[in-house]
Amino acid sequence: MQVRNDHPRRSQKRRRKRFPWGDIVATLLVVAICVYVFMSFGEKTPDEETPVRGTSAPTTTQAQDNVQVGILAESTQPTLSDIDWNLVLVNHENAIPENYEINLVEVAGGEKVDERIYDPLMEMLEAAKEGNWDQLPMVVSGYRTQAKQQKLFDDKVAKYQNEGHSKSEAEEMAKQWGAVPGYSEHQIGLAVDINGATYDLYFWLQENSYKYGFIFRYPGYKTELTGVAEEVWHYRYVGVEAATEMYEKGLCLEEYLAERQEEK
Ligand SMILES: [Zn+2]
Repeated sequence: MQVRNDHPRRSQKRRRKRFPWGDIVATLLVVAICVYVFMSFGEKTPDEETPVRGTSAPTTTQAQDNVQVGILAESTQPTLSDIDWNLVLVNHENAIPENYEINLVEVAGGEKVDERIYDPLMEMLEAAKEGNWDQLPMVVSGYRTQAKQQKLFDDKVAKYQNEGHSKSEAEEMAKQWGAVPGYSEHQIGLAVDINGATYDLYFWLQENSYKYGFIFRYPGYKTELTGVAEEVWHYRYVGVEAATEMYEKGLCLEEYLAERQEEK
C-alpha cells in the first residue's frame, strides 16, 4: 500500500542537498550541441570554386555546393580510388561510400546533380525533345540529402501502414520503392528521376539514354538483382562506354560490375 507524503515531509526533502545530476546532464547536452553545430559549419565549403560553364547547355543555373555524403561506417564499398566514380554501386546492399564528396550543380527546375553529369544530362534532355511530347522532359528529383531520403522513406512506410500493413511489412514494401536512406543513388547525385506527360518518353529514354551515358536503372525484369521494383523514370549516369555495353548486352549495373570483376 502506498503512503502519500504530507507537505512538511516533502519540503524537508526539497531542502536536502542532492547531487545535481540534472544540471550536469543539461550542461553536457548543451556542450554536445555546440560542438555539433560548430563542426557542421566547418564542413561547408564556400561556393567560390564554381566553374564557368559552357554556353551550349540550354538550361543553366549557377548554384553549386560541395557536400560530403558518406555516412555509414559499415559500408561494404571498396575504397573510392579502386573504382571509377561513374561506376560506384549504391543499392540495397551497398551503402554510399564513406566520405563521398560531390560538387553539385543546379539544373532547370531547381534540382541538383553531380556537376560531372550536367552536360550529358542536358544533351540527353535536349535530344529527348525531338519526341514532341506534350510536356518537356524534366528532372523532378536529383540529388537528395540524407534527411530528404529519410523523409521520403518514412512517408512511404506511413502510407503503407495507413493501408493496414504492419510496420515491418510496410518497411519491406517501402524498400522496394524508395531506397532506404544511405542506400539511394540519389544521395550521390548521379541519378535523376525524369518526368514525362506521355509514357512514350520513357520508351525513347530506354532506347537512347545510353548514347549520353545514362541507363534505365530499374527495369522490372531485373528487380531481383537491383532490389527495386520497376521505375521507368529513374536514370543513372555510368558513362557512355559502360552504358552502351549494358544496353547492348541487356545487363543491369550489378551484372555489369560482376562481369568486370570476373575479367580482372
Ligand atoms: Zn529515382
